[in-house]
Amino acid sequence: MARIVMKFGGTSMAGTERIRRVARIVQRQQAAGHEVAVVVSAMAGETDRLVNFCREANPLYDPAEYDVVVASGEQVTSGLLAMHLQALGCKARSWLGWQLPVQTDDAHAKARIEGIDSEALMASMAAGEIAVIPGFQGLSPEGRVTTLGRGGSDTSAVAVAAAVKADRCDIYTDVDGVYTTDPRIVAKARKLKNVTYEEMLELASVGSKVLQTRSVSLAMKEGVRVQVLSSFIDDDAPAADTIPGTMIVSDEELARIQEGLDMERQLITGIAADKNEAKVTLTRIADRPGAVAAIFGPLAAANINVDMIIQNIAKDKGETDVTFTVPLADLARTQALLEERKDTIGYYRMLANSKVAKISVVGVGMRSHAGVAATMFRALADRGINIQAITTSEIKVSVLIDEDETELAVRVLHTAYELDGE
Ligand code: ADP
Ligand code: ASP
Ligand code: MG
Repeated sequence: MARIVMKFGGTSMAGTERIRRVARIVQRQQAAGHEVAVVVSAMAGETDRLVNFCREANPLYDPAEYDVVVASGEQVTSGLLAMHLQALGCKARSWLGWQLPVQTDDAHAKARIEGIDSEALMASMAAGEIAVIPGFQGLSPEGRVTTLGRGGSDTSAVAVAAAVKADRCDIYTDVDGVYTTDPRIVAKARKLKNVTYEEMLELASVGSKVLQTRSVSLAMKEGVRVQVLSSFIDDDAPAADTIPGTMIVSDEELARIQEGLDMERQLITGIAADKNEAKVTLTRIADRPGAVAAIFGPLAAANINVDMIIQNIAKDKGETDVTFTVPLADLARTQALLEERKDTIGYYRMLANSKVAKISVVGVGMRSHAGVAATMFRALADRGINIQAITTSEIKVSVLIDEDETELAVRVLHTAYELDGE
């Protein structure tokens, strides 16, 4: 017998028939002798709909009230799934974020989980009751409803799994695992049997939304075994325990698995695209100590995350251009902040471009192999794709390109790194 947390995303919960199917998948796990807790998302599209209502009410809405509104989508699906399970003859009940509670900080709309009181939950699971928990929602220290940021149900599931010391956290979604790139963009993407926490963390943070970034860092920190698999399966499909999806594993575990299979590690694990960044250039800044600090200090103080930065070589006049990227959602604030400081920073013009995309290749194999970036630059150049900025980390290379070339770039790189499947 194992203790398993199962999470179902929005597409899996979209409507009566789909929830009924989810109930059957859950029932099967319990019938196999496991203790089960389920974490659910709102129905697909529901959170977007609720966010729009908030924007219409007041573009500068109060984030605490936003949380009250957007957390409601998960309340609906958790109650419905409990009903469907009961209709199948299972003992089941819902546990809302405030009832457990899922304690978070008070950063409304992007709260962090600080702890989950799991005593009542574990007792109910041990008594054979299926716990149904709405993802995405929590409770602030002031006793108000919070939400965890978009895609946050993944993080709820991992946090519940850590709290109840689950043997595994199964993330059921609308694809049957983690692929070398988004299978909806590249038909030749290949499913990965195993991905390391570190690689998944990088992939998620550069745009692979199959898992929320925080869920991966939490799983890594707490040592939660996470599996990604499809909820769109027939009743006679193999059980989740036979590992049909993608398992997120530690570096050592992956090395052991591949050694056993006498397999060489792939140089590149995956490719991701992110259209949610914007590029800003400040021209003719004085090339002297302190100039760059005058730009990025105020942005940091305003909690704006700067990602890529390039500073051109100074021309003889002692002036230079500085280009950087910020999240698209923060572009307007960035422009306002820099406009206010035009004289202090001392730039000539500010140029902004929101039609850019960041393409990243990720793989731990990069640590021991040279030439990964060179392959990327050559493959893009051969297709006439211009690179506007570059950043690298130990296991990642990212480039900024024109947004219109996103799909082409991902496909070209997928082929260049020999990732194409059948
Ligand atoms: P859910 O509602 O179940 O949380 P999401 O839409 O958040 O589902 O995440 C699943 C989607 O992630 C897939 O439909 C797919 O388009 C996208 N995706 C992006 N990158 C990848 C990848 N490397 N592997 C698999 N899916 C990916
Ligand atoms: N419903 C929330 C969202 O759409 C959380 C989630 O689905 O993970 O962002
Ligand atoms: Mg998701």
